[in-house]
Amino acid sequence: MGKIYVGFMRIGIDLGGTKIIGGLVDEKGLVRVRKRIPTPREKGYEGITESIIHLIHGIIEDSAVDKGGIERIGIASAGQIDRYSHRIVFSPNLGFHDAPLRDDIERGTGIATFIENDVNAATYGEWRFGLKGVPQNVVGIFLGTGIGGGLIVDGKLYKGFSNVGGEIGHMTVNPDGYQCNCGNTGCFEAYCGGSYIVERVKRRLEEGYRGEIWSLIKGDIETLHAGHIENAYRMGDDFCGRIWREVIEYLGAALASIVNLLNPEMIILGGGVIYGTKYLIDDARDVMKRRAMKASLEGLRIEKAMLGEDAAILGAAYAGSAP
Ligand SMILES: [Zn+2]
Repeated sequence: MGKIYVGFMRIGIDLGGTKIIGGLVDEKGLVRVRKRIPTPREKGYEGITESIIHLIHGIIEDSAVDKGGIERIGIASAGQIDRYSHRIVFSPNLGFHDAPLRDDIERGTGIATFIENDVNAATYGEWRFGLKGVPQNVVGIFLGTGIGGGLIVDGKLYKGFSNVGGEIGHMTVNPDGYQCNCGNTGCFEAYCGGSYIVERVKRRLEEGYRGEIWSLIKGDIETLHAGHIENAYRMGDDFCGRIWREVIEYLGAALASIVNLLNPEMIILGGGVIYGTKYLIDDARDVMKRRAMKASLEGLRIEKAMLGEDAAILGAAYAGSAP
């Protein structure tokens, strides 16, 4: 195969706790070659780094592009990234402490490498390539197993004083509330993060609870998902009703706080809990409208994320460079 791509391309890597996805991308936001592998967590930091380098070489081979034509590699990683050393300070999902991933990938590939927090990268990717960089003030909120957030302020990714801003999931929404994995109580994530919601219902089922939810999951607790709980709530399930009303109310309240604080033009909602449910955005929007200051709601739009898994790949490849 000849050299089929001309111009500068980049490689974006989305490093997650269960899988690593890599793509060869261009400045129009097209993902030309895509590869994925399971994250070899059992092999630790060194094994994971080696797998990423191997994945990158595979992408370069498959794309038949010159290695010299790869302008840069961007890595979207869970965890907090140090502003100066670019090390991953701590990532519970990956088991990394003070990991020099950016330097190791750069050394292993010989290509300039950048690293960005995964939710910042996803928000940036959605903004630049999904929304074409038009709205200047955007908040991205991703409700997956936990909750992550990213902020675009005046057309730039906002990272805060020491690079770790945007931790929307750990805003306290109820000081006496549920226990959060971060050690605090009453975090937004502890109310609306997928794994927390599912865990609450799972525990009740294991204690013998049998409502509409039981027939929805056909007695298989392992398949339980936020979408089931929303359906059970709409069918009148007692316990799921209680849990789901709480999710709607706290998501709506969190949106109201964000809107009051930042007055964004748009909020993008993504993640498994959003993709797996039908009415959550509308229900939470109603709560937000009831709670937020009227002027903060003027012209605000709330949209579902549109790029799926490409958002983090594209965001990692292009965050930090002007549109
Ligand atoms: Zn927390």
